[in-house]
Amino acid sequence: MSRQYPIEKYRNIGIIAHIDAGKTTTTERFLFYTGISHKIGEVHEGEAIMDWMEQERERGITITSAATTCFWSPGEYLTKEKTDTHRINLIDTPGHIDFTAEVQRSLRVLDGAVVVFDGVAGVEAQSETVWRQADKYNVPRICFINKLDRMGASFEKSLQSIWDKLTKDAVAIQYPIGEEAQFEQVIDLIEMKAVKFEGEMGKDVIFFDIPENMMEKAKEWREKMIEKIVAEDEELMNKYLGGEEISAEELKKTLRKAVIDCKLIPVMVGSSLKNKGVQLVIDAVVYYLPSPVDLPAIHGTDVNNEEVKIERHPDDNEPFSGLAFKVATDPFVGTLTYVRAYSGKFTKGGYLYNTVTQERERVSRILRMHSNEREEVEEVFAGDIVAFVGLKNTSTGHTLCDEKNQLILEKIVFPEPVISIQVEPKAKADQEKMGASLKKLQDEDPTFRMETDQESGETILSGMGELHLDIIVDRLKREFNVETNVGRPQVSYRETIERSSEAECKYVKQTGGRGQYGHVKLKIEPKERGEGFEFINEIKGGVIPREYIPAVEKGVKEAMEKGVVAGYPLIDMKVVLHDGSFHEVDSSELAFKIAGSMALQDGAKKAGAYILEPIMKLEVVIPPEFLGDVIGDLSSRRGQIDETIDRPSVKAIYARVPLSEMFSYATTLRSLTQGRGTSSMEFESYQKVPGNISQEIIEGKRR
Ligand code: GDP
Repeated sequence: MSRQYPIEKYRNIGIIAHIDAGKTTTTERFLFYTGISHKIGEVHEGEAIMDWMEQERERGITITSAATTCFWSPGEYLTKEKTDTHRINLIDTPGHIDFTAEVQRSLRVLDGAVVVFDGVAGVEAQSETVWRQADKYNVPRICFINKLDRMGASFEKSLQSIWDKLTKDAVAIQYPIGEEAQFEQVIDLIEMKAVKFEGEMGKDVIFFDIPENMMEKAKEWREKMIEKIVAEDEELMNKYLGGEEISAEELKKTLRKAVIDCKLIPVMVGSSLKNKGVQLVIDAVVYYLPSPVDLPAIHGTDVNNEEVKIERHPDDNEPFSGLAFKVATDPFVGTLTYVRAYSGKFTKGGYLYNTVTQERERVSRILRMHSNEREEVEEVFAGDIVAFVGLKNTSTGHTLCDEKNQLILEKIVFPEPVISIQVEPKAKADQEKMGASLKKLQDEDPTFRMETDQESGETILSGMGELHLDIIVDRLKREFNVETNVGRPQVSYRETIERSSEAECKYVKQTGGRGQYGHVKLKIEPKERGEGFEFINEIKGGVIPREYIPAVEKGVKEAMEKGVVAGYPLIDMKVVLHDGSFHEVDSSELAFKIAGSMALQDGAKKAGAYILEPIMKLEVVIPPEFLGDVIGDLSSRRGQIDETIDRPSVKAIYARVPLSEMFSYATTLRSLTQGRGTSSMEFESYQKVPGNISQEIIEGKRR
């Protein structure tokens, strides 16, 4: 078998957006117009195509990151046939802030993105967060200002907010005719034509002459666009300065190059719900976003030496390499491992090598997902996005490659969980099943962790927010039939130290036969937030024999896990072992481990250990009349207001608030605002807990 579509005609893209900006609706329109979906399900009817997990439908948000394949020839709405077929793989990205790790892992594997904005709200806090992540991964982008039909919508204001908050490189390639209820048509500034959308679901796209009353605006905005595009190409610039006419083809070609290099970002307009403009966005995906061969080769590292870089090109003749970016449990086929293939080809039934677990994995079947139906495929090629069936032990972020040509593609680093709950099965008999099910969920989601408390035997779940854990518990019930009792959410506090200190412990025991002797001197120093733990051995002249050093480190680490203030793990510190002594007969690993542990506890106390708490970045959007109440409430939660912004008919408040004060905030906000306020929250950093609250945590009053 050979590939069906040349790799140049692949577009691996994601649609990303702030929750409610219209990502689901836009995705559905993509699938409708590309011919995959013939029936459109509105979100509120629970028929959203991408939201194939029952629970997501109920909540109306997309959590999982599935991939869907569809086909498109630019302008096919005019010719009514697919003549220049491109394969578009849509990689679903979750919209809720609790799941930014999922957004990250999808950004890692996609080649380009359509960023959807609400034409009323413009750039919202979360769009900013996702935008920065896309910057980090150098993802070429198109902006789509959606919902232009809504009351209060403004193209120019939304574009201004993109310029102000995200980038000056955004360039409008369209301009709307009318706004709010009058929004019907758009002007294509490149072709200098007006466009309308007629027929069922607006599927007939009709180009016509720009109306007289819009001509001036169109000229003004085309001029702005051309200036930005020609600046990217010297030859074109000279032509333009020489007063020559620049053709649509030249503009498109130069714009394509600039978009792929992340130098320009085209901005388009429309209304997905009212079926206006989406086909032109699909055209733009093909015109401006890259195929896998337009991007630099992917880099990995040697399995045994991180310093050695290895390159793989999007070429079927290179050894196979791919990255698992999503693991999902499917009721029919079991575990689905979504993989982005970067190089080579691979036939089902064969083995791939997982360089992270260092195990071979057999791929029994390969599936290509078309939203709610799946196609069995024999082979996967460079640039493909497919789901593998049959893998036993591959998690998100793992590299799968040819066993004889191994490499590790960049691993994805996920943030520490900030909140935890205790769970137990309602029926004692379900204990084992609960453990196995949680293990599966943990494999799917690297930001979710399950632990068993050594002392109490309790099962503790931790994750990125209350909603995140709610969903896990809900999935236990729905997908695995395990009903649970859930404890109250607990903040994942941490401890750290204020200053440097010196500590010494001589652990000596003389009991009957062989005694115990371990003696260590430690220097303990604080590190910056997020720098982690470092152990340095500076023992010289064998004052402590080499075989006991790992035992000291182990003791130090165990003591750090337990903390010294209120039982939370100590983080971000450097421990230097610089002196000590030993006894020929009585010294043992155990004695040195105990000495290390006791010295650390003593040293951390002397270094002014204190408690850290997770601080969240919060965005609250409310009607203006509730501003006073909402701000008052936030202040009582130790919130710090950073900014309050006026938007058409609403206020947006940006604040930083300790997570411990934010439990059930959504409910409070609803009652404060008669159900009209919305909020979203994201972890920002760990910060020192104020004295009085620290006391409450120590006394266990704060739960
Ligand atoms: P998501 O959260 O980003 O996936 O957004 P959805 O697609 O679920 O849309 C959120 C809400 O906005 C839904 O009630 C949609 O019907 C509505 N919506 C989406 N696109 C438009 C649009 O272009 N115009 C208007 N007026 N509403 C829209």
